[in-house]
Amino acid sequence: MLRPKARFPSVTCITPQWLRERGLKAVVLDLDNTLIPYKTYGEPPRELLDWLRTLEGAGLALMLLSNAAPRRVRYWSEKLGIPGLGPAGKPWFGFGRALRCLGLKAREVAVVGDQLFTDVLGGNLVGAYTVLVPPLSKEDLGYTRLIRQIERWVLQNPAFGTGGAFDLKESPRGPTMKE
Ligand SMILES: [Mg+2]
Repeated sequence: MLRPKARFPSVTCITPQWLRERGLKAVVLDLDNTLIPYKTYGEPPRELLDWLRTLEGAGLALMLLSNAAPRRVRYWSEKLGIPGLGPAGKPWFGFGRALRCLGLKAREVAVVGDQLFTDVLGGNLVGAYTVLVPPLSKEDLGYTRLIRQIERWVLQNPAFGTGGAFDLKESPRGPTMKE
């Protein structure tokens, strides 16, 4: 349940072709530390906007699913130009609602995020195709910092079947996939 189906060094490395090859029709995106560094506001990076528009242009549906406060989710939903749901209550809540909004089956949806215990666990629980990316910033809620320690331990412990050592701080040069 904590094993992501794929891992990428950054969201913008995920291509429409890669998604299509897996029968994926939509991408449910985490906000904080996946698309935008935690706590930050302002203008989104050009590269991120271009990537979102490329995916949409290829016919993929996009949705933000975040545990952040409603105001923050609304702000970034508008800035990024994609619908947003939140606060979602991941991992237990939110994914079912996102699937209903998209009108798709779980196996047709990629869930992309930086956290094992919210994004990957929640996505796997509903049967979506989970993708883990390294967090953009080291800054997190105090609670998330504790979770990070546990994540690091889980990712480095082969008993959990996450494919051996995977250092969240490291950005591999290319996409690394575990399927
Ligand atoms: Mg996050």
